[in-house]
Amino acid sequence: MIAELMTKSEPTLSFEFFPPKDDSGEAALWSSFDSLLELSPDFVSVTYGAGGSNQAKSLAVLTKMATRIPTIGHLTCVGATFASTRATIEAFENAGVAAILAIRGDAPRDNPDALSQGELKTALELVEQVTAHSEMEVGVAAFPELHPESPSLAHDVKVLKLKQEAGAKYAFTQLFFHVEAYTALVAAARAADVTIPIIPGVMPIGNVKGVLRMAELSGASVPHDLLIRLEGATDDENAKDIGMAFSIEFAKALLAAGAPGLHIFSLNHHRAAEELARGAFSRLSR
Ligand code: FAD
Repeated sequence: MIAELMTKSEPTLSFEFFPPKDDSGEAALWSSFDSLLELSPDFVSVTYGAGGSNQAKSLAVLTKMATRIPTIGHLTCVGATFASTRATIEAFENAGVAAILAIRGDAPRDNPDALSQGELKTALELVEQVTAHSEMEVGVAAFPELHPESPSLAHDVKVLKLKQEAGAKYAFTQLFFHVEAYTALVAAARAADVTIPIIPGVMPIGNVKGVLRMAELSGASVPHDLLIRLEGATDDENAKDIGMAFSIEFAKALLAAGAPGLHIFSLNHHRAAEELARGAFSRLSR
């Protein structure tokens, strides 16, 4: 259902949300969700806390969103058993979730051994579980700047191909800021017969400090010239303008390079996500 949307000539627009931690986060999520739905996105996705955090909340958010728009539930397998994974897959399907983004997750800081403790060890095994036990589509992660544990682009592409062979219908990328990293990944994937759409994940640089922190955590390299421009900002507002101008040009360049859509990390705030979507998609420009 979502895979089909990616074959249309118009690139897809989608937004990622995360399950809120408290009442004020809950209010921000739903008001952002309502605002972003006005842009007629093709689908949305909801993240999942690896290793136990906030998982029930993810299901609650998914259940509500899925009544309004095709919704992808992220699902991690780090530390999970086969039985608990199958129960979650069933719960997602019963909630009307259209697809699962099957990812491994990372070990939580307070339990660095989690990767070796569960029964499932890799996202590939999770893809196999979803395809074997549900009718839902499966998406997976891709890494324009390599997965931090990967020795090479060729290795990442090999793993992506195994996931495609196991039934993955598309991939969404990790946060990144260099168009060439995306085009190189796609070229290497296509050369290895990976044919699934690879949708770039794009983060609007609205909250500059927050985005730079997330870039550091995920290992995304920030272009030197952008850092210089941000250092020269006169105040926070000016820094935000510089960041958003960069984000929009970056997103447009990805579409011009053939990206089949943009998956915008909304961070549960609609303003920057909306500005990015309107700037990148001519069909939404005012
Ligand atoms: P895997 O595919 O299991 O890969 C992990 C490592 O193992 C890689 O280095 C890979 O090369 C290697 N590997 C895997 N399989 C094989 C194999 N068969 N042979 C050899 N090597 C192999 N985290 C969350 O906790 N919650 C989320 O909601 C979430 N959403 C995300 C959304 C996107 C779009 C992305 C890109 C990441 C997301 N993450 C999320 C982070 C993700 O969990 C981490 O990046 C994690 O480290 C890797 O997940 P993966 O699915 O690529 O794992």
